[in-house]
Amino acid sequence: MSDIYEQAGIRKDVLAYCREIEKSLESRFKAIDEVAEYNQMKVLLAMQKNKVSEGCFQSSTGYGYDDLGRDTLERVYADIFHTEDALVRPHITCGTHALAIALSGNLRPGDELLSPAGKPYDTLEGVIGIRPQTGSLAEYGVSYRQVDLLEDGSFDYENIQKAIHEKTRLVTIQRSKGYQPRPTFSVRQIGELIAFIKSIKPDVICMVDNCYGEFVETIEPTDVGADMCVGSLIKNPGGGLAPIGGYIVGRKDCVERAAYRLTAPGLGKELGASLSVNRSFFQGLFLAPTVTAGALKGAIFAANIYEKLGFGVVPDGTESRHDIIQAVLLGNAERVIQFCKGIQAAAPVDSFVDPEPWAMPGYDCDVIMAAGAFVSGSSIELSADAPIKPPYAVYFQGGLTWPHAKFGIMMSLEKLVEKGLAVLPC
Ligand SMILES: *Cc1c(COP(=O)(O)O)cnc(C)c1O
Repeated sequence: MSDIYEQAGIRKDVLAYCREIEKSLESRFKAIDEVAEYNQMKVLLAMQKNKVSEGCFQSSTGYGYDDLGRDTLERVYADIFHTEDALVRPHITCGTHALAIALSGNLRPGDELLSPAGKPYDTLEGVIGIRPQTGSLAEYGVSYRQVDLLEDGSFDYENIQKAIHEKTRLVTIQRSKGYQPRPTFSVRQIGELIAFIKSIKPDVICMVDNCYGEFVETIEPTDVGADMCVGSLIKNPGGGLAPIGGYIVGRKDCVERAAYRLTAPGLGKELGASLSVNRSFFQGLFLAPTVTAGALKGAIFAANIYEKLGFGVVPDGTESRHDIIQAVLLGNAERVIQFCKGIQAAAPVDSFVDPEPWAMPGYDCDVIMAAGAFVSGSSIELSADAPIKPPYAVYFQGGLTWPHAKFGIMMSLEKLVEKGLAVLPC
């Protein structure tokens, strides 16, 4: 084993340090495997119940009426999330698009959108109109209100109560921290928040941005009262095999309104050729619980590796996990860049290229992204990204297998040690 890592460019002391950390994580990894086992059964039983068959892997073209695979897959998703309906489509280009459809489909002029968990994910600022953007919800007369989290990262219930009024139509709750060094919410915490909101206004639609959270726990936000749950198929639920896509699961009326926005009013879910993605959607979903488990192990490994070197990590090395993202506060741009170069160098694809910070659409500063993925931009595959601004946090996620996630982290550390930007404990 030491030989193969040496061949891969990992020096002996880096390897020894990483091994020691790994050894200390045995019981946590066992718990993760148990969650994966449960979720594997949940996915399997949903596939069996809905009679997934060879015929489901055929694909439609044109209008895509009566696409057996597409319709079956949507019933499978609805069963996994315990919802009335689901919209799972390759025409949903990414997570932001899925969220935009869910929001714009369910909000009308004069309505107000509330975020009770602080600022949403960067790309949603344009969707909502927090940042001026052509075509935003704000342009369509949908107002927005936000209640920031309290200092300790918990919900500000008092001000949330004050922020809910007759115009409040939809509440958006982001499960994952995204690009912010705040805690990710557990499904249970989200359930408490939803119950509180519904006790004030029962008919408000509670939507959860579930990106990166799928299959991390044995329950999902739709099990604790969310009316809609939204995510990307090039993250957890695509299992690394979905080449594109997004999903919206939830109440039938909410999903229908979203579908009318995706295609056209009156057409909705009836249309939408699956082209040739059905098999990869099914197979990816089948693998998703164990793929997510591998990514989760990578995140916990990274937290412990960097925490013991003295860096800030969110979540910390011992905290319970509710998404697959790991933030490491590296303190300066040079470390962030070297970290990302290490992740890139560990990739199966494009390992020979060097990532550089760049202005990316949807972000307000330069961003560096390391990804050598089979599916372009897929962040269930081993990837790291970081906005080049204080506190110089790098956000690490993914890894289709645990050994690969592990190697990526070892390589990131190798780069830092090589440049004298991190010192191993002796
Ligand atoms: C990834 C992500 C999104 C959507 O991002 P896309 O790049 O458009 O898929 C939205 N919210 C959160 C919290 C995310 O992590």
